[in-house]
Amino acid sequence: MTLTPFKIFRILLLLTILAATAFYTKAQRLSSTGWLEPLNVVIYPINADGKRSTSQYIDQLKESHFQAIDRFTAKQSKKYDILTKKPTITRLGKSVTTLPPVAPAPGDSTISNIFWSMKFRFWAWQETPDELSNQHRARMFVLYHSPTGNGQPLDHSYGLNKGLLGLVNAYASNKQSAQNNIVITHELLHTVGATDKYGPDGHPLFPDGYASSSGQQYPQRHAEIMAGSIPLSEGRSRMADSLRQCVVGKKTAEEIKWLSNI
Ligand SMILES: [Zn+2]
Repeated sequence: MTLTPFKIFRILLLLTILAATAFYTKAQRLSSTGWLEPLNVVIYPINADGKRSTSQYIDQLKESHFQAIDRFTAKQSKKYDILTKKPTITRLGKSVTTLPPVAPAPGDSTISNIFWSMKFRFWAWQETPDELSNQHRARMFVLYHSPTGNGQPLDHSYGLNKGLLGLVNAYASNKQSAQNNIVITHELLHTVGATDKYGPDGHPLFPDGYASSSGQQYPQRHAEIMAGSIPLSEGRSRMADSLRQCVVGKKTAEEIKWLSNI
């Protein structure tokens, strides 16, 4: 390959963009996991199915629908070593009227995940452009779907461990608010470094995915937030009903820098 000045310029430009993104992401990570002050979390609702019932649900949403998230992070953080008493302050942002790029299905190639993550970050920047506050603002885009009653599960939700961005699929129903808040919190904790604590069968992994790691005693009473479900017996678990039934376990606390592992 002959490197013309134009090609060299293009390569240098690409490297500069990559270096700038990496530096920005690192700064964002350090700023968001210092926990000296609260992390601002903004919920951006999106009507995912275009239905009128979904719009009506979104129109009646209030900040109080999401307060359980802040109560959960405040209560759970007390067990660990952070300075702020309020790790998160969750607000309701404006509705977003464009749909994000279609997310890859679980099992899609790493390359399609990387491309999607870049497209999603660009879309989020176009929709909510405020680079300064994004250093300390987690943006959770919530795709609401009216319940269909046919038991069809929602698509996977995503929390990017770079960019403080989450994409959550949720039901447009007040009855589902408490479980929607579990999914939002799970994805939010991914954005600050937490990893999943369930196995390929969807059941919590022992010991990190168990709320009580003193032993595999059944049934457990709580779910570890990054496992999402309560172990009932060997190979059996059920989704927690609300954040009141969830805890932040020690491994998750280490990952999100609530606990020093030195
Ligand atoms: Zn997850």
